[in-house]
Amino acid sequence: MIQTLKTYFGYDTFRPLQEEIIRNVMQKKDSLVLMPTGGGKSICYQLPALLNEGTAVVVSPLISLMKDQVESLRSNGIAAEALNSNNSETENANIRRACIDGKIKLLYISPEKLVAEAEFLLRDMHISLFAIDEAHCISQWGHDFRPEYTQMGLIHERFAGIPIIALTATADKITREDIIRQLRLIEPQVYVSSFDRPNLSLTVKRGYQQKEKSKAILEFIASHGRESGIIYCMSRSKTETVAQMLRKQGLRCEAYHAGLSAQTRNKVQDDFINDRLQIVCATIAFGMGIDKSNVRWIIHYNLPKSIESFYQEIGRAGRDGVSSDTVLFYSLGDLILLTKFATESKQQNINLEKLQRMQQYAESDLCRRRILLSYFSETATKDCGNCDVCKSPPKRFDGTVIVQKALSAIVRTEQQVGTSMLIDILRGSFTAEIKEKGYDQLKTFGAGRDVPARDWQDYLLQMLQLGYFEIAYNEGNHLKITENGTHVLFGRAQVQLVVIRKDEPIITKKRTPISKELPLGLPSVESADLFQAMRELRMQLAEQDQIPPYIVLSDKVLHQLSLTRPTTLDEFGTINGITEHKKKKYGKAFVNLIKQYV
Ligand code: ADP
Ligand code: ZN
Repeated sequence: MIQTLKTYFGYDTFRPLQEEIIRNVMQKKDSLVLMPTGGGKSICYQLPALLNEGTAVVVSPLISLMKDQVESLRSNGIAAEALNSNNSETENANIRRACIDGKIKLLYISPEKLVAEAEFLLRDMHISLFAIDEAHCISQWGHDFRPEYTQMGLIHERFAGIPIIALTATADKITREDIIRQLRLIEPQVYVSSFDRPNLSLTVKRGYQQKEKSKAILEFIASHGRESGIIYCMSRSKTETVAQMLRKQGLRCEAYHAGLSAQTRNKVQDDFINDRLQIVCATIAFGMGIDKSNVRWIIHYNLPKSIESFYQEIGRAGRDGVSSDTVLFYSLGDLILLTKFATESKQQNINLEKLQRMQQYAESDLCRRRILLSYFSETATKDCGNCDVCKSPPKRFDGTVIVQKALSAIVRTEQQVGTSMLIDILRGSFTAEIKEKGYDQLKTFGAGRDVPARDWQDYLLQMLQLGYFEIAYNEGNHLKITENGTHVLFGRAQVQLVVIRKDEPIITKKRTPISKELPLGLPSVESADLFQAMRELRMQLAEQDQIPPYIVLSDKVLHQLSLTRPTTLDEFGTINGITEHKKKKYGKAFVNLIKQYV
């Protein structure tokens, strides 16, 4: 097993659970595997496929996912094919022939095709195992329900004795039970790995105005050089404006949303996968069909509506295990809008509850990873050290007077104003509406002139979180003071507010290169020039072979190469992630390049 792992996947050791899962499959037993994105699920069925006689049949919901897997396997010298409607008839006929002749180790197939071929092609093949990828698609409870998946129950009936391995990154319990029941798995072993993604840094930025947000985003992107990233926005129009803003700065960026033609969307996706496009500004519609391993950062331009969506979206970064950064921008405006949506939705209670959990994450003064993991019913035993709260814990000050000013203004307007009007009153702005309503005559008019509007946003958010006022969503989002609020207003309670940190770049620490996995005595600093040169070489090779650059070699491998700088083919071959096939195919080109830098 270890030898096959090194030869075909380039690794010396298994990750937790992989070996047990593979042994279970080899013993022809059923398995259900729950691992986070990037956890290493594929090897769990690909390695048994190589070790066993015959062909492994892999059910996958999307052609783009099949394509990615097949390209990746082939780039390691493994006979893999995808049978789908994208191929020409001749291609599909050849694939069928090869399957019947036992020349294919892994056959990727859509659920529809599997059902259609159950009595035909699949009957004529020697099948080693069935792998059901993205198995949560079988469940109505999941977020990507695919009716065709529900027919997968036929597998055991028609193909007795052939093991099934179902894999998914969706953790919840109902879905898990549904998968087992619907696939009719026989006494399956269930493997659940930790959902933690320690290589993803977590940062939240609160209460930025549009302009500051743009500035912060540009700085953040600049700190990432030419690395790929995704910006998730709440609306289609926002994806367009943000993309335009970035293009004006000379960045290769496009918008992606459901309102664009399929052709445009495919092109954006394809350009992004092949590193021709650096950034995509997208609605949640983007990402399901991509396995691109070198996405290095994710920005949430707006607050997502639930932790599930958030975690799935940030999960698209760092699949190769290299450290990657995620930033969430959080504003009162987003919260108000999302609350309105949730209130108007069919499942009001559930959606409001989900939004509240998301809000808790964004507002937390505790390690953010702990909050995420606890949401997925995991308990972390210590703070992560890789979130903004851990890196610089919030400082506080006595904010009683500030809070009193705001609450007093709320009361004096008879609780008939929303946040932006309140801030105008506090700041003493003579807007038409303020004059019309006579708010310029209030005692609190201009009482908060010394605090910038942006800071008022932030303080109001904190006050909301501390429970001093509520927002009446059914009453024009007017602010209503709570009982706790009145205690502060009348001087019966003190308030500690969090100091707002300004102009702090989003990333506080320069990323450290991966050095832990290296033996002693090697150069311990990465060469940035070499890394860049290797990226360019990788791009050339990828274009030659018409595969995405990350399939030629992953970012992780490039980092290790620029750290260890091997100058012989044999040394090159020892790098984690270099397979026999890649050593032969690309070794010489990289070694020659490295020699110029040693
Ligand atoms: P998933 O399908 O769970 O999202 P993948 O199977 O694509 O994840 O694996 C994610 C990354 O981890 C890939 O780059 C893969 O090559 C790498 N990987 C998998 N197993 C190992 C291992 N045992 N050692 C090192 N890297 C591994
Ligand atoms: Zn933390």
